[in-house]
Parts: sequence; structure tokens; C-alpha cells
Amino acid sequence: MLNDSCIARAGKVLEILSAAYPVLPEFLEYRNGFELLICVILSAQTTDLQVNKASKALFARFPDPFSLAKAELADLEELVKSTGYFRIKASRIREAAKHLVVHHLGKVPATMEELVKIPGVGRKSAGVVLFHVFGKPALIVDTHFGRVCRRLGFSTHNDPEKLEQDVAKLFPVNRWGEMSMLINLHGRKACLARKPQCLSCMLRTQCPSRSDP
Ligand code: SF4
Repeated sequence: MLNDSCIARAGKVLEILSAAYPVLPEFLEYRNGFELLICVILSAQTTDLQVNKASKALFARFPDPFSLAKAELADLEELVKSTGYFRIKASRIREAAKHLVVHHLGKVPATMEELVKIPGVGRKSAGVVLFHVFGKPALIVDTHFGRVCRRLGFSTHNDPEKLEQDVAKLFPVNRWGEMSMLINLHGRKACLARKPQCLSCMLRTQCPSRSDP
């Protein structure tokens, strides 16, 4: 289904979005790779705002993988309670910290292969770390990214890995991370899940799913 017109539209989409959002926003607050990794694990099924609130107190008490790996589960549950699914998240972040200590001397690894071996870390979370911490190319397929890409006709897949493979062919590798952020942002601001703002959408001319007045 990917043809020359699709590739041309993808280029145009990237051009329009990067002109509209010249500064890429940071949604999660972190000071280093360890903190971002933990924030990403906590961000499942909640808002970035909730994560940022909870993570401040969490990192004040457990500032590195060594202290977090030895934390009492009950203390962690209390600290991350506001992010939802707190029992499983508390357990995951402690297991992730243990993994960093045991396998990487407390450092965050810089490859997709190693990152996805960390408990609680899938390709999406690994991509966030690769791009933001190490400046490496990564497509970050989250719910906003997937929805907007499907509406733009870049893939028909709901499966994140299949969608990632389709989209990867449309954009230059060195712009994958930036493009992930731009499309995510557009999904949050305009191409909303329930009510896409097609009439005022800057991608309207490039979008096969646009609703007409
Ligand atoms: S035209 Fe509508 S469906 Fe297409 S990207 Fe814009 S908001 Fe989304």
C-alpha cells in the first residue's frame, strides 16, 4: 500500500509539522537516563502530569538504580500510587532498577536490544530513551502516533511493530525521533481520538481521512 504518493505526502507532513512546531516539547520531567526510564514505565495508563508529580518525590528518596533496587515495595507503592496500577508499577520499577544494577553497573544501556530486556520496558519506552537520552534514531509508537499515522494513510496496522515497519520506510532514519514527537504532538492537539479537528487541521490537504464540511 505504500507508494510514491504516500512517500511524497509523508515528506510534506514532516515539513508542515516541523515548521509549525519548531521546538520539540518535553512532556516528562527528568534529569538523566535513569529517571527518564523510570518515568516512562510509570507513564502507562496515566498522564504525564501525574507522572511528573509522583516522580519528584520518588527520585528525592531513591535517586539512582542502587537505592531503588533496595527499596521496600510498600514505600514504592505509596510513592507511585497516584499514577494508577501502583502495585504492578512499584514492582516493575524496582525490577528495572535491579536489572540495571546487575547487568549494566547501574547505567542505562544505549541499544534497543538491551533496553527491551529491562522489566517493564517495551519498544516504545526503549525508543523514548534512545532518542531523548542518546540522540539515536527511534520511532516511538504510542497511541497518538498510531492513530494519526493510520488516519494519514501511512499504515493500516493496529499492531505497533507492524505499524512501525510501515512508517519507518516513509521517513529518513535521522528524523524518526523528531517525527515521532511531531506526530504525537499533532495527535494531542488536533487529531484527537474522538473528535479530530479536521476543519482547522494543518495536515488537511495531505490527509485521506479528513472530514469535509
Ligand atoms: S485532517 Fe483530520 S484526520 Fe487528518 S490529520 Fe488532520 S485532524 Fe487528523
